[in-house]
Amino acid sequence: MDIYLVGGAVRDGRLGIPVKDRDWVVVGATPEAMKHRGFRQVGADFPVFLHPKTGEEYALARTERKQGRGYHGFTVYSAPDVTLEEDLKRRDLTINAMAEHEDGTLVDPFNGLTDLAQKTLRHVSEAFAEDPLRILRTARFAARFHPLGFTICADTMALMREMIGSGELQHLVPERVWQEVQRALHEQSPTVFFKVLHELGALDILMPELADTERFEAGLQALECISTQNSTTAQRFSALLSALPEPEARARAIAMKSPNDCRDLTRLVCLFTDWLSQYTDSTLPPEAMLEMFDHADLWRRPERFEQLVTALACTPYKQHVGPLNSAAESARDVSPQELLKQGFKGKELGNAIRNERLGRITLALAP
Ligand code: ATP
Ligand code: MG
Repeated sequence: MDIYLVGGAVRDGRLGIPVKDRDWVVVGATPEAMKHRGFRQVGADFPVFLHPKTGEEYALARTERKQGRGYHGFTVYSAPDVTLEEDLKRRDLTINAMAEHEDGTLVDPFNGLTDLAQKTLRHVSEAFAEDPLRILRTARFAARFHPLGFTICADTMALMREMIGSGELQHLVPERVWQEVQRALHEQSPTVFFKVLHELGALDILMPELADTERFEAGLQALECISTQNSTTAQRFSALLSALPEPEARARAIAMKSPNDCRDLTRLVCLFTDWLSQYTDSTLPPEAMLEMFDHADLWRRPERFEQLVTALACTPYKQHVGPLNSAAESARDVSPQELLKQGFKGKELGNAIRNERLGRITLALAP
């Protein structure tokens, strides 16, 4: 059997950037031979194994044939006669389809090295069209390597447009889309991912509420700002959707099956921007602010509130962030224990807490 390093590790090695994890392809072997050497098979009928010592993934060379629509319906063929070239041909981009033999020689039938030098993202073959997830992966690599000067070549853009035109994106399950979106939000230039999808017309299908030019531009600006900071997925996602009306943003976050923290923060960011948009030239009214603090559950979720204001600082309403912060800080200082000691009970205690908070907010907002 012959063993080759493949995919991202070869690409990143040649780019001179740190290699995260290494994937290997094994040619001329059977599952039995692998197990005999101590490899552990992952999954029942998938020819992927884990190295007994390093835990790295070793896949038997395989070909994939598309049978139906969407991601399901791939048949995998793996046998000792599958060549390395056949395995590389089913991969997405030429820069991801290079292999390095244990002895160091590069196997590069699709000229990935040239594309690497020319900073080009190019599909390996027409088989690219068999998996619509590759559109999202390509946009994500464009986002990752944008600072290095990489762009998607015209042929690949055209092929992706064709795929989208024939309705391929509709067959992706939300979980797979979310996984790519989540990763894209943490790439080097997250906005490039969404720009590519917008340009391809993919956003009309995946996040139609965001496709409108004004909302899109505003969302991208907010994302650009928040992604220069050490921010969470929830902050990045909510910044992206920050120009949408709250009901639309919430519905999209749910439809995309984003995790709860993303849904919650998106809802809050949009609730706040909807509210703040009324006060572009004036100060915020204390009563309404207290109500918004209640919505955000500032009292029990101070860290989330912190995430919220940091995201708001990336929207057109950033002038309100200073007052929001100082009012929140003062209002949070109200001690229910103190008021309890003073003899307030039950409903009266609730009212006293409220009045005290309102007083402090008013004071914090006074010029
Ligand atoms: P990363 O640095 O994000 O790990 P990677 O290129 O290693 O990048 P992986 O998702 O780890 O990406 O996949 C490993 C390799 O498998 C890729 O380089 C590519 O050759 C191939 N690959 C993964 N997913 C697909 C896909 N959906 N279609 C075609 N080839 C794929
Ligand atoms: Mg990888």
